[in-house]
Order: sequence, then C-alpha cells, then structure tokens
Amino acid sequence: MPNRPERIKGKKVAILGMARSGLALARLVKDFGGTPFVSDQKPASDLAEPIAELKKLGVPCETGGHTQACWEGKDFLVISPGVPKDAPVLKEAQKRALPVFGEVEVAFWLCPSPIAAVTGSNGKTTTTALLGNIFSSSGYSCRVAGNIGLPFSAVVADKKDYQMIVLEISSFQLEYIEEFSPELSLFLNLSPDHLDRYASYEEYRAAKLRIFENFAPGKKTVVNYDDPFLREYAQGLKGEVYFFSMKEKVPQGAYLEGETLVFTGPQGKIPLAKKDQLPIKGPHNCANALAAAAAALAWGAPKDGVIKGLLSFSGVPHRLEPVAEVNGIKFINDSKATNVDSVWYALQSVAPPIVWIAGGKDKGGSYAPLRELFPQRVKAMVLIGQARPLIRKALEDLAPAYETKTLPEAVEKAYELSAKGDTVLLSPACSSFDMFSNFEERGDIFKKSVLELKRKTEQKWTTAGA
Ligand code: ADP
Repeated sequence: MPNRPERIKGKKVAILGMARSGLALARLVKDFGGTPFVSDQKPASDLAEPIAELKKLGVPCETGGHTQACWEGKDFLVISPGVPKDAPVLKEAQKRALPVFGEVEVAFWLCPSPIAAVTGSNGKTTTTALLGNIFSSSGYSCRVAGNIGLPFSAVVADKKDYQMIVLEISSFQLEYIEEFSPELSLFLNLSPDHLDRYASYEEYRAAKLRIFENFAPGKKTVVNYDDPFLREYAQGLKGEVYFFSMKEKVPQGAYLEGETLVFTGPQGKIPLAKKDQLPIKGPHNCANALAAAAAALAWGAPKDGVIKGLLSFSGVPHRLEPVAEVNGIKFINDSKATNVDSVWYALQSVAPPIVWIAGGKDKGGSYAPLRELFPQRVKAMVLIGQARPLIRKALEDLAPAYETKTLPEAVEKAYELSAKGDTVLLSPACSSFDMFSNFEERGDIFKKSVLELKRKTEQKWTTAGA
C-alpha cells in the first residue's frame, strides 16, 4: 500500500500486451496522469475489441509487433507475462537502460489497500479464492484479483480503500518487480514447472522467491513447513513467519492434529474444522486450507469468520471439478493441472480405478514422478496433443495407453475403457496451447463432451426401456 501516484504522474509508459491486464493498466496510468501507449505482437485483425476500447479511452496503440515507439521517449516499459524474456524489445530497453516492470508492480505503486499475495507452483488460484472467501466471511471488505481473473490494475482503479486485496501472483509477475511487497504473503509449495521458460529449476525458484525481496519487519508470511528448502529459507526471514504443515506441529501457524485443522499463534491453540468437513477434497486442498486459515488468523481475522469461510468454500472450476456420473462412472475435470506435481495430487485425490486423460503441450519436465501411483490407481490412460509420445514412453509399461486426436474422442475412449465405480479424470500434466486457447476452453470442451455422452447414454436407456 505505498500510494505513490508521483511514480506515474507525467510519465510516458509503453505497455506491451493488449490482454485484459494491459488494458486495465492503460486505463489506470491515464487516470493517474501518465501517458500510456500500448503495443501488441498480434495483428490488428485479432485485436478488434481491445483496439476499440483503447480508442474510446484515447490511448494510442500499435499492433503486429513492437516498434521504436515502445522505447523512444518513454520513461519505462510494462510487460505482460506473455512476452518472452529474450524478446528483442527487452534487449532494446536494456540497451537504453529503460526500466521494465510488470503490471503488478505498477498497480502496487498506486494501491491504497493492504495486499495478501499468494504464490507457489500449485494451488494458487484455489488458495487465493479461499482466502478471499475467508476474509469476506469474516466481514472484511475484500477483493480477489491478479492471475485469478480480474487484473490487479482494475481493482486499484476503483480507488477504494479495501480492508484486503487478495492477489494471485505468478513467477512471471515477480520477475519484474521493484517495490512490490505485500503485507501478507503465502508461499504454498515449489515443484518444477515452466521449465520451458526458465533455464533451470533454480532460476524458476529464484523468480518465485522474489516474493520476499522487500519482506521486512512488520510484514507477515505463511510458508510450507513440509518443504525443507522453504522451511529453512523462511526461518532466515526478518519479519513475522507463520507455517503450515500436513505432517507435523509447527512453531506458529496451522497444522493437522489427527483429523482436525488447528492454528497456533499468539491467540493460543484454535481448533478450526475436521478435514472431511471441508467441501474441497484431497490432501492438497487440505494443505491449501491450512495455508489460507493460517494467513487469515495471522492477520487477525476472527476465528468464527475463518471457520465459516473454510466451510462455505466449494472450490473453483477446472480444479478437480466433478462434472457428471454416467452409468456409475465419475467424470472429473482437472484441466488446470498443467504440471506433473498437480497431477500427482489429483491422482491421489479421486477414487481409483482411474482412467486418466492427459497430454497437451509439454512443458519440459519429467513424467516419471507419476510412476509410483500407477499400479494401484491408474487403470488406463488416454493421451491427446503433442506430448502423447513423451507420456507414453514414460508410463506405458505400467498401464495400457491409447491415443486420440481430439478431446471429445478421448472422453468416448475413456468411457469405453471404464466400468461402474471407476473415475475418468482429465488432469493433463501439460499446458493447453497446442489444441485450445487456454485451460478453461479445454475444461469446457471436456465438460460439454461428458454431458453429451451422458445425454446419449440416458437416451439409449430410455429408448431400450420403452
Ligand atoms: P495454480 O493457480 O497454482 O495453478 P490451482 O488452484 O489452479 O493452482 O490448482 C491447479 C491444480 O493443481 C489443481 O487442478 C490441483 O490438481 C492441483 N493442486 C491444487 N492445490 C495444490 C497443492 N497445494 N499442491 C499440489 N497440487 C495442487
């Protein structure tokens, strides 16, 4: 909550990327007396809507590539997560010593409200939404923003004093910060991801750890105690450190006592809820709930509000989302599982035997960590997308592998392979960009195909019965 409009007033700002966060930022910069210019790689024909919106705002823009208008006469650049690190425009900025920031950094300068920032490799969206629900249930005026949907800039543009803004923060956004420093931060976990963007795991981890770059006394953080690296790292931080653990009692924070989630802090020990009372299922979701509860209680939210928030949160779409049951076979949409670690949790969270639908655009990690779950849980796999041969090679000695060209075909094939009591799980372990515009589209197509299958199957039954 620095509230420093002088960082924007009178400044000429090039914004790269015309997606929602770029547009929201252009509006914010203009609103605070800066002069925005927006540039996008895509051709104008793909950007009709944002171009019209910018025109309405009176903000100049260019399409089809980034020209010198992005650096000549500008005070700084703001890049969107889609811009690769080695993009020529960034080299130009470097040559001219022009600062480059992310949207989150710039919106932070103008933000009057305290921020709770959630980061980690997996569980960010779920935990962000849950923490927002907990704060709202506790009577706080609260907004949820960032990677989760509504751009941070759009919330800051409201010019309202919220009691809390809960922000989902990705490693991309942390790469371009300077002052960004949330009052409350949550570091959920660390596992290999985005190795297509980072040269190594260490580089990815370093990007994520920048969440602590401006951590200082007076700030609070909640960190995963079960990750030895994170635990040690957090113990060296100078500020208020809380932990959460699925395995052991923590010095300060949230953990499991038998089946009960409890919090321990300056208020003493507070029992919160039983694991199976949580509407969100699976061990990973229990960890997310511990993290969110620890954060809210560390911040001073009332116990009753925290419990109400935990018990009234039923999850976000595309994350282990039950779709339908067809002839006793459960279909679950986990389209958001775009890396191996999240699939590892998904395979443990749904009832076996599982017919697993996976594949998409490979992200450069190894599929081998899934091997240990195969004999007991996975009965067959149906593969789609570019990564088909890689997943097949890594796992086909453990369960039969089938390939289909499209996702609707994969749904049909999975149904054919399963029997009453089985679970068909879409949990791709890959990004969606080889076949879909995003994971939401992939999940929606899956859901539509399942519902179509259900309709056809029920029709057959009705006709046969008549
Ligand atoms: P993110 O926003 O970090 O991608 P999501 O909340 O959208 O996280 O969940 C993505 C996927 O990761 C889910 O589909 C689920 O299978 C898995 N997941 C959720 N929470 C965790 C966790 N704490 N640890 C590991 N995997 C998780």
